Amino acid sequence: MNYLFDLIDSKISDPDKTFIETDSGAKISYRQMLSASARYANALVAAGVEPGDRVAVQMEKSPAVLFIYLACLRAGAIFLPLNTAYTPHEVGYFLGDARPKVFVCDPAWAEAHAPAAKEAGALILAHGAGMEGELFERAKASAENFVNVARDKDDLAAILYTSGTTGRSKGAMLSHDNLASNTITLVDYWRFTSDDILIHALPVYHTHGLFVATNCVLLSNARMIFLPKFSAPQVLKTLPRATVLMGVPTFYTRLLEEPGLTREACKAMRLFVSGSAPLLAETHRAFREKTGHAILERYGMTETNMNTSNPYDGDRIAGTVGFPLPGVSLRVVDPDTGEDVSNGEIGMIEVKGPNVFRGYWQMPEKTAAEFRADEFFITGDLGRIDGDGYVHIVGRGKDLIISGGLNIYPKEVEGEIDALPGVVESAVIGLPDADFGEAVVAVVVREKGASLSEDDIRTALAGRLAKFKQPKRIQFVDALPRNTMGKVQKNVLRESYAKI
Ligand code: AMP
Repeated sequence: MNYLFDLIDSKISDPDKTFIETDSGAKISYRQMLSASARYANALVAAGVEPGDRVAVQMEKSPAVLFIYLACLRAGAIFLPLNTAYTPHEVGYFLGDARPKVFVCDPAWAEAHAPAAKEAGALILAHGAGMEGELFERAKASAENFVNVARDKDDLAAILYTSGTTGRSKGAMLSHDNLASNTITLVDYWRFTSDDILIHALPVYHTHGLFVATNCVLLSNARMIFLPKFSAPQVLKTLPRATVLMGVPTFYTRLLEEPGLTREACKAMRLFVSGSAPLLAETHRAFREKTGHAILERYGMTETNMNTSNPYDGDRIAGTVGFPLPGVSLRVVDPDTGEDVSNGEIGMIEVKGPNVFRGYWQMPEKTAAEFRADEFFITGDLGRIDGDGYVHIVGRGKDLIISGGLNIYPKEVEGEIDALPGVVESAVIGLPDADFGEAVVAVVVREKGASLSEDDIRTALAGRLAKFKQPKRIQFVDALPRNTMGKVQKNVLRESYAKI
């Protein structure tokens, strides 16, 4: 038995039903999904992929990414998606850390990635979103049947890298059951049925679009309209044909700017879900006013899948992330003493359940440091539980920046800036931004007499950091504010620059 894929297969009550409809109107049925994933599985196995091997993928969004994910499940391999914005420098780290057997990337990027792939011992197989490249050709020539490799609930299905607060990114290991159990819960909690049509406008290298959205569709034999990226006018045009939208808060603020967003436009819709970053209560209110729909906000993370959700039937309270999902234990503890303060005080959110990951890839010490003795995972998020049981996220333990739903760890950006000639030090902070939630801002101290300009820093970072991590503004100061312990006071910086 193959734990997750058998479950997906068992839910296909009608193989001729459309699984994916692309923005050009092409339809891919569940039967075609089965044969495509078998072809990719055959091609990967022929390329030497064995059970437990990693298959890294950095591809523009296309249905093929999902077929390769499913092929990995079937072949017992571990799917490792990478953000398309990562530079060859960043990809080099992931390949070196994960040592995948195969690295699938866009044909246009293959040359730039070749040295890192060679160093890591990975075979590059190119695949373009327009259905071209070596892997596409190999899959096309492969058989459309595949005998699934046996996988148990605890075997790994995927590794998703999260950014590291101290140093490098960590690979969160997710098992077949982490994904299966969470999806079964969500399908039930959010009332998915085979009549649903989900608008898929999220990236597929992140847990939200890859697992939450796609797996909910798969496990309910539903359909999705697969858009290459989020565009408010395109989503607005699609709403009358769809029933569910899953998005980050930016989707909703952008949709609210569209004059065509009306009750009439949302008549066919039954559910709007938001997550990955805090949704402003103001956005929730304005959306309800215009559409009659209360956005359902939920809370999760790469390491844990989904932890909490506002209710389907009960009150969806703006500014809260709802209740712990069935099967998930959530508590709030004093981060210093570990004492349970779930009675309303603010503290560190900790979770336990079948949704919680198996640890960080090849980092047993990091893993051990983030779990309590009773197996609760320390999320790093600060929050509280109110008298009605709703969970509120009040902030992030560390200084994580979330811009457009993507996490940016200041330390990584600071490291790149500090390495530039003429820089003494820097502090990177997130400032409120109506569009992205938060915008990355760097505060830099130059060496005396250094002529380094804002443009010089921008140019230097362009080849080193993904675009979403690059500072939107750079400010120069003579010195960073520090407390008596010598720690940089980022709160002071945030206050001083709040209005730039
Ligand atoms: P990621 O691993 O990229 O999914 O990021 C997970 C982090 O995003 C969490 O640890 C939270 O800090 C944040 N997050 C996710 N959903 C919400 C939400 N609904 N409200 C506030 N923060 C959220």
